[in-house]
Amino acid sequence: GKKSGKNRYVIYDSSLRSHENDLFMTVETVRKGLSEGRFRLHYQPQIDLQSGLITGTEALIRWEYPDSSNLSPGKFIPLAEETGAIVEIGYWVLDTACEQLKDWMDRGIDSLQMSINLSAKQFLDLHFPARLAHTLSRTGVDPSLLCLEITEHTAMTNEQYSLNICEQILNMGVKLSIDDFGTGYSSLSLLKNLSVHSIKIDRSFVKDMISDESDRAIIKAIIAMSHNLGKRVIAEGVEMSGQWDMLQDFGCDDIQGFYVSKPLTAEDCFHFIHQRNALLT
Ligand code: C2E
Ligand code: MG
Ligand code: MG
Ligand code: MG
Repeated sequence: GKKSGKNRYVIYDSSLRSHENDLFMTVETVRKGLSEGRFRLHYQPQIDLQSGLITGTEALIRWEYPDSSNLSPGKFIPLAEETGAIVEIGYWVLDTACEQLKDWMDRGIDSLQMSINLSAKQFLDLHFPARLAHTLSRTGVDPSLLCLEITEHTAMTNEQYSLNICEQILNMGVKLSIDDFGTGYSSLSLLKNLSVHSIKIDRSFVKDMISDESDRAIIKAIIAMSHNLGKRVIAEGVEMSGQWDMLQDFGCDDIQGFYVSKPLTAEDCFHFIHQRNALLT
């Protein structure tokens, strides 16, 4: 609670810069942040390697300071998970991403998939399926254009209940994806039992794939397995044209990474998608 937060502040005060960030994701700070518009979503384009078109974006949260500088999610999401504040943040993300998608589509971008990240507490929140259904009907977003990214860890936290939630989500027509695949305690039975639409190969395998034969072997195996299970594969962290070419050779379906674009503000992303897709169609 508040008291232990204060104590931590005293303890960490001497090394303020790196630790001040760890302090503030209590439920109260999150509420204040929401009312002051401190949370922002940036959007990172995803490219379909077959068409070369941008067919999706991933919404990535930031905390924006009054001077417009940003705090990255790695600095506050873990603490928000600890305090439980992540549930409230998560609903804001869901609402904002759906509203953004609706806005882009109203402005002429067609058939774009919006991916959002869900943490375990949010995914396992009893109200989640109902809130999801409500947001979809309120915003008028086609459920099949929404993709929820969960990690292996999230799905394993309560495997039986996860299967149940996944079923409810899939029945709404919303897609599911396994994020950071290969870094958790990957369970092959999980892959078999969860009807996820796609698998995201973690950046750690993509990073050195040009020089590292083991990384290439793992990537090829993930692609083959996923395709045999009828799932799409997306590679994250693509930073070089050589990785794009190789992933294309291996039959990977989609890519995301700095080589295509860093995460962008909503307006920049809108123009980026518009221009890039116009060049190809
Ligand atoms: P993630 O879902 O695996 O997201 C991909 C992360 O990799 C993003 O970092 C993105 O900016 C970064 N990235 C993308 N392409 C490249 C690349 O080519 N090179 C490198 N070095 N990095 C790349 P970001 O935005 O800092 O997010 C970090 C993590 O925070 C996310 O990992 C996700 O787990 C979590 N996160 C972000 N937004 C949310 C959210 O709205 N809710 C929840 N629960 N978690 C979120
Ligand atoms: Mg993700
Ligand atoms: Mg990821
Ligand atoms: Mg990752």
